[in-house]
Amino acid sequence: MILVLGKGLSGKAAEKLLKSKGFQVIVYDDKSPVSVPSEIEFAVKSPGVPPDHFLIKELKSKGIEVIGEIELAYRYAKGRIVSVTGTNGKSTTTALIYHVLKEAGYEAFIGGNYGIPFSSFADKTTENSITVLELSSFQIEDLKTFKSDVGVILNVTPDHLNRYSSFEEYAEVKKSFVKFCEVSILNYDDPILKNLEGNVKFFSFKERKDAFFDGRKIIAEGYELSVDALPLKGVHNIENYMAAALTLLELGVKWGYIEKGFRTFRGLPHRVEEVAVINGVKFINDSKSTNVDSLRKALLSFNNIVLIAGGVDKGLDFSPVLPLLKERVKAAVVIGDMADKLESLFSKVIPVKKAETMEEAVKLAYGLANGSGVVLLSPGCASFDMFRSFEERGEAFKTCVKQLEAELEL
Ligand code: ADP
Repeated sequence: MILVLGKGLSGKAAEKLLKSKGFQVIVYDDKSPVSVPSEIEFAVKSPGVPPDHFLIKELKSKGIEVIGEIELAYRYAKGRIVSVTGTNGKSTTTALIYHVLKEAGYEAFIGGNYGIPFSSFADKTTENSITVLELSSFQIEDLKTFKSDVGVILNVTPDHLNRYSSFEEYAEVKKSFVKFCEVSILNYDDPILKNLEGNVKFFSFKERKDAFFDGRKIIAEGYELSVDALPLKGVHNIENYMAAALTLLELGVKWGYIEKGFRTFRGLPHRVEEVAVINGVKFINDSKSTNVDSLRKALLSFNNIVLIAGGVDKGLDFSPVLPLLKERVKAAVVIGDMADKLESLFSKVIPVKKAETMEEAVKLAYGLANGSGVVLLSPGCASFDMFRSFEERGEAFKTCVKQLEAELEL
């Protein structure tokens, strides 16, 4: 009998996979009973279950193997695997690599932290297929025999400090990922990653590495591509393109397909997504920005900004963005649990207003924009104080912008 911990998407997918393989399965979530039945062969842990959960402790003390849902799926998967991790840019880069593979005619799958559990399709993979997985640090913690043909670590900046005891502990988990990869593609400009050794390739803005940016073109293993032709804008997306290019070249994809795929990939919603222009004011939805570095990257992408930020307090320090706020942001509207903290910090450098709802935030921001520039929703915080998810937060923003547009047209 197998014990599955967690009844979310990945727990359910693990249960289904195990049952299809003839195992008897019991699924526990937090609310169910309380100790490990004696006949358990091994346990499968969903990424949301913390490693110090009492059931995990009990399993380990009894010498029962605990594996993650990704590790379980891996044991049933065929073909090659590409994995993408990092603090920010995982979904975008995962989707970009998958898009190029599909456009080039490869048999490809996408999943993991991307919202499609690996266990839900591991059985469909074949000797010829390529599976592109987005992996969170929680998922990396629970890997054992897993091997990725190519693995990407995009960056390591503070996040999830409510779950890890320190940034160093979080960074160690991300760094440990190279041992699960035949080849690792790493960001040379990231101080945490630049010294990693082994079978590694680097991309960089600053130095001529395996892939680099010369101010105009991406140059990867000698192949060139002008960024003017690419739809995703901002420094951070050049990093994502460079990482994807090295990964795809490593897989043997021809440069012509990479160029074409990069040009036709339109990006994912809620990541620096343009929503509307109302009387000269552009509205950008970056609801997926849930930590300080993604906020920083969004600010670097625009000028003359009215920022809407705030949400769940994860213990992150926002003071590193103050110089950018001063330089590029003319006013901010703060929302959610972090509103007071952000107000007192941001008001050191710019005018700040507080809003109770998204509707109020959008209206205030439009007023503060005063007929020019960009209203940018880039919260830098998780959404669970006011919304069910970052998607719901982004949709609420878009709805409020559309409403405002309709009201102003009357
Ligand atoms: P993830 O899946 O890691 O959360 P996403 O691609 O969904 O990454 O993007 C999350 C947020 O980070 C968005 O606000 C996006 O604009 C920003 N972002 C995307 N790529 C990068 C990057 N390479 N570095 C920093 N921020 C990024």
